[in-house]
Amino acid sequence: MRIGIDVGGTSMTAALVGDDKQLYFKQRSVTAGVKDEATLISTLITTVDRVITEGNVDLSKVSSIGIGVPGSTNIETGTAVSAGNLPVHNTCFKKILEDKYGLLTYLDNDANCAAWGEFCEGHGKGVQNLVMVTLGTGIGGGIVIDGKIYHGVANHAGELGHQVIDIHGKRCACGRVGCWETVASTRALTNRVAQEVAAVPYGIMAEVVKENGGKVDGRTLFTALKRDDMVAKDIFDEYIETLAIGVANIIECFRPELLVIGGGISKEGDTILLPLREAVDDNQCRIECSMLGDNAGIIGAALLDLSRK
Ligand SMILES: [Zn+2]
Repeated sequence: MRIGIDVGGTSMTAALVGDDKQLYFKQRSVTAGVKDEATLISTLITTVDRVITEGNVDLSKVSSIGIGVPGSTNIETGTAVSAGNLPVHNTCFKKILEDKYGLLTYLDNDANCAAWGEFCEGHGKGVQNLVMVTLGTGIGGGIVIDGKIYHGVANHAGELGHQVIDIHGKRCACGRVGCWETVASTRALTNRVAQEVAAVPYGIMAEVVKENGGKVDGRTLFTALKRDDMVAKDIFDEYIETLAIGVANIIECFRPELLVIGGGISKEGDTILLPLREAVDDNQCRIECSMLGDNAGIIGAALLDLSRK
């Protein structure tokens, strides 16, 4: 038995993962609005405690803990160096968790954990080389080469969302212009839909937004697509085209056997996959949507000990 933890900017989840690599019991806590490190750490301990007590676990049966955190990490020391909107400043989660529970603890970047989860227990079973692209507010990347997570210098490899695909494009949060995530992240897609709804407030997409209490979200476009909205179709086609450019670049660079798409949008399955495969048009690399979905990061974190062998 292992414990996996996935810390994000809006919530954190801790779970029990069995020796069969299946997830058994999980608990979630809110991290949005947590402003200081001490509160974040106490939320973490409370969440793990709940998993242990409510999951009825004998700690002597747990072999290790793994934790995935966003942003910059030091995997040797098990430290979250910095992470956007989360209050971590060289926070050594490894020491905190090892002192508290007396269990060996491993830490890695959340996108690496998701890729590792998919490699160990998702579509990646049986392959040696895999790249996972997680579409969300930005685009995260995790790379597995020859059965090992590729970390690069200072664990900074895998920033796939910051490959420039349009030198005349928009300014990215990283400071460069035309990064892939400025056009192919879920946020970019949602912004594009919101722009269209504001410009044409009487179309099918506007109707969908109205039904959703005036809110544009990740599902708006897909609901409009199901209603055969031509405007939604145009936006979707353009989105797939930009997504495919980045995916094809990654395949050319790494030539993996498998490329996995993760993030909330991957739940759309074939709606995304079929046109994406057609646009990428590569018969050597299989492209799939995440099999483990929201649990990829937690399962991957729990199994981090296997990545250090
Ligand atoms: Zn960028």
